[in-house]
Amino acid sequence: MMADHWLASLPPVQGCLFCHSEGAVSVEAGRSRLARGGGLPVIRCSHCGAVAELDALPERAEWRIRYRKVNQADRYYYVAQQFGGGEWFDRAAALQISTNGYVQRQRVRQTATGDLSWLAPLTLDPLPLFISQNEVTWLELRGVTLARLASQTWILRSGQSEIIDSGKLYVTSLKLHLLGQRRDWPIAWADVSGSSYDAGAWQIGVEGGDQPRALIAQRASNEMDPQLIVTVIEHLRQR
Ligand SMILES: [Zn+2]
Repeated sequence: MMADHWLASLPPVQGCLFCHSEGAVSVEAGRSRLARGGGLPVIRCSHCGAVAELDALPERAEWRIRYRKVNQADRYYYVAQQFGGGEWFDRAAALQISTNGYVQRQRVRQTATGDLSWLAPLTLDPLPLFISQNEVTWLELRGVTLARLASQTWILRSGQSEIIDSGKLYVTSLKLHLLGQRRDWPIAWADVSGSSYDAGAWQIGVEGGDQPRALIAQRASNEMDPQLIVTVIEHLRQR
């Protein structure tokens, strides 16, 4: 009984680390540790459906968690990336991911409703010539490629594309601007035709050529995640 009470007091049981609902997590006591498949307590969130094993003992202050099932909905993009790989996370790492995931979700929600107050405009010094004094620079993204997309109708291998240029992308209140290795590529918002992202990359469609083009970048660990980048760009494009 003592152990059950202690288990119920742990952060992953008090509130779901994945979706942050409180009072939605139930604990299934583990079977014998000798049983096949381990005997660790399993926690389930009735709100998001996340299922995790909790490795914790009252004698130890530490605990660790491993998710067996996560919710892949867009709003859980960040936490699903982090927690969805089937690894163990110790207390400090799990709480940090959970906090970061909460912040990321709030930012995506805010941005989608037109609120960029969480994002400080960049101060560029010197100001590049292609950015005017009254233009607000929101993002500076490295390693962005401009590619001509292969038409699916005549190339069977998907994802095959021809690189036109690559460099640093500036996202401003007035336009996108790729500072390429070959040349500058100003892209008006009117020529941005759509966007997509997955776990490891984002893509922005560019019109105004004889063939479809796109700005493409891999996820960079020192930059914001693909979902947030695309959400910011979509908000600027649509306003
Ligand atoms: Zn949950």
